[in-house]
Amino acid sequence: MLSQKLIDELNEQIKFEFYSSHLYLAAAAYTYELDLDGFANFFIVQAEEEKFHAMKFFNFISEMGARVKMNAFDTPKMEYKDLVDLFEYTSAHEQLVTDRIYKLMDIATEEREHATISFLKWFIDEQVEEMATFKAMTQRITRAKDDANVIFGMDDELATRVFRPPTGA
Ligand code: MG
Repeated sequence: MLSQKLIDELNEQIKFEFYSSHLYLAAAAYTYELDLDGFANFFIVQAEEEKFHAMKFFNFISEMGARVKMNAFDTPKMEYKDLVDLFEYTSAHEQLVTDRIYKLMDIATEEREHATISFLKWFIDEQVEEMATFKAMTQRITRAKDDANVIFGMDDELATRVFRPPTGA
């Protein structure tokens, strides 16, 4: 049986993952406006991943016999100065996600809630990947500055990204 504290925090995470999905759709809209359709595709796929994360929490809470709550979230940031600003913001957001997952793991560990600890391990590993992806892209964009060739090259590359639900997850 999950404690009320853990149920509340897991439900907050559903909200946060859907908020992340919205944030990335807003980022996709911003990059579409810059005629960077490949970047937009990257963020749309990212938004799909966040929805997938939200549903993992949804299913876990339900399987544990607790009640899911769909809490409202704020409107995400929609305007950015430029691509560097966008990637710095989204990288900082991924750091917040990591902090939240760690907080959940701390609570589950304190409560010796082993099913939740096991469930959260997937997210700990996932965040290592997410942080590395965003950090690498931020570095490339910062280095490219206003070099259109580099940015359009990246745009072509990012156009090929597709969403694949992770197997065994
Ligand atoms: Mg996520």
